[in-house]
Amino acid sequence: MACDTNINCFKGNSDMKKKNRSLLPMIYCVIFLAFLLGLLLIVIKAKSKKNPSQGFPTAPPVLTVTQSPTQTPTPNPVISSLTNYMAGEILSLENMDFSKLSQYFTASEIDDALLERIQGKSYRENPDISVNELRYLKILHYNFNEEIQVGELIVNEKIATDCLEIFQNLFEHKYEIKSMYLIDNYWTGDSSSTDEASMNADNSSGFCYRTIANTTKLSNHALGYAIDINPYENPYITYKNGQPVHHQDSGELYADRSVIREHMIDHNDLCYQLFTQKGFTWGGDWKNSKDYQHFEMTVR
Ligand SMILES: [Zn+2]
Repeated sequence: MACDTNINCFKGNSDMKKKNRSLLPMIYCVIFLAFLLGLLLIVIKAKSKKNPSQGFPTAPPVLTVTQSPTQTPTPNPVISSLTNYMAGEILSLENMDFSKLSQYFTASEIDDALLERIQGKSYRENPDISVNELRYLKILHYNFNEEIQVGELIVNEKIATDCLEIFQNLFEHKYEIKSMYLIDNYWTGDSSSTDEASMNADNSSGFCYRTIANTTKLSNHALGYAIDINPYENPYITYKNGQPVHHQDSGELYADRSVIREHMIDHNDLCYQLFTQKGFTWGGDWKNSKDYQHFEMTVR
């Protein structure tokens, strides 16, 4: 609206000036607050640059949780029987319970499965011995690598308990035996060459229905009364016209017993001592031949 008169215009201008004057403090106040706010933002921004972990909330840090590779250790299963372990298997010391050592030295009857394994090999129908008179021994022994190894052996039932005690005693003294498998594992087709194969493999064994090498006389092995220990280092030697006859590969190498080397049996050897304490005789004491691996019991 335009002013009608100078007076009215003057009056109007005067009112407006009053209104403007009343708004000024409010404007100053707003400007001041805006200034303060700006200042506050600058300060906060400066602080957040100095220490990024503070200030405005940022996206939560991604925590990488590294899983510990160590899991709850499971206890080692304790072997309480050798039933499910084959001869030649190496067992860990951690799995053994030596407070019940005799549980690893057992004798059992020849069952059908075992008879099938030896039938026509170490055992055949004969008038001298029946399978009912034989016992299958499962034992532990230390091998040449100082490992605990499962062994098996067939002997006459009359010496089974003595043998178990001897082998347990040998084990307790960490006596080393290379291997102890049934001689059937080396079967060649005849008992004589099978015996040689087992000896050449340094395998300790017991029962085998056979004659004494190069004779028609029944061996004590045929009745389960004889056991050969570490045959490679303890060879069987016979003499013909004063000359030694070797029956195995290592014969010459170990014929000289004047110097006793590792695994050679002599009168100071624990194996010799334990077997003879039970009434066994040693082939190393024979006069006409020497069988350093051989222990036998004469049962009347
Ligand atoms: Zn023998």
